[in-house]
Amino acid sequence: MKPASERLISARHTMMEDTGAVSTIPNYDLHNHTVYSGHADEDATVLNVIARASELRLDHIGISEHVMQAHDVGRIETIRSEIDSLFSMGAQPLLGVEMDIDPACPDGRWVCPGISCDYVIISPHAFPQFDLDIPSSELLEVQRKVLIRRWMQWYRNAIERGGCAILGHPLREPLAMNLLDLSDPEMIELAIDTFRPAINQGIAFELNNAFLTALSSSSHYPAYLNIVSQLRAMGMRFSRGSDSHGTLRVGACEAIEEVANFLGFTSDDWIDIASLITRRVR
Ligand SMILES: [Zn+2]
Ligand SMILES: [Zn+2]
Repeated sequence: MKPASERLISARHTMMEDTGAVSTIPNYDLHNHTVYSGHADEDATVLNVIARASELRLDHIGISEHVMQAHDVGRIETIRSEIDSLFSMGAQPLLGVEMDIDPACPDGRWVCPGISCDYVIISPHAFPQFDLDIPSSELLEVQRKVLIRRWMQWYRNAIERGGCAILGHPLREPLAMNLLDLSDPEMIELAIDTFRPAINQGIAFELNNAFLTALSSSSHYPAYLNIVSQLRAMGMRFSRGSDSHGTLRVGACEAIEEVANFLGFTSDDWIDIASLITRRVR
């Protein structure tokens, strides 16, 4: 018997051949980084990212630079003034922020709560009040469960506080830290319970191309699709984000397209730009 991920992949290919794989994803990219992140390719200037989006004929491009600590807010103002000076290009750039949840506070507040922008993606890149002084691979199962429950509660607090539009690459960090084991049905249930409040808050779940590309070769992939599928059935909306850190990845969506085609997404499954704008953070 092939592993679940391989069976899923071959099932997906069959299904895509049968249906002709008509793309059902929106023509925007809401998650892009620039040189101001300090860790993107040199070519990822605001101008080049917007120009690339025009070249790809995307309807909308969002630049969503990291704010990982409060003092990163200055780069958002720099990007805002560059966008303002480029409006003549025809593309309609949106000013987003990829905001970290403050790891020093268990209540789920952001590292820079008073920000002004078109939309916020919340992405926790750090673990709350926690430093692993032993490798996560050496944690006991029971310790891991305590930590992942703590992480999920923190993340849920951030969702319940509201104010953001999108959950960035959901579950990427606990999976990367090896704290979350999605082969455990209890963990799938915990994840769904954590994300469910986002539905009523009108917060979208991001299908993040860079993350899904990496995830698709891991054993967690089928379970992740299961979570996406269950949340979708409950009314969750999704957003498309490449997570580009270089001009060539702007608009990249092959892994998002695979998920959307496999699960049979329709245009109703995605957040639209109008609803994003009505949620503008001031
Ligand atoms: Zn980054
Ligand atoms: Zn991120």
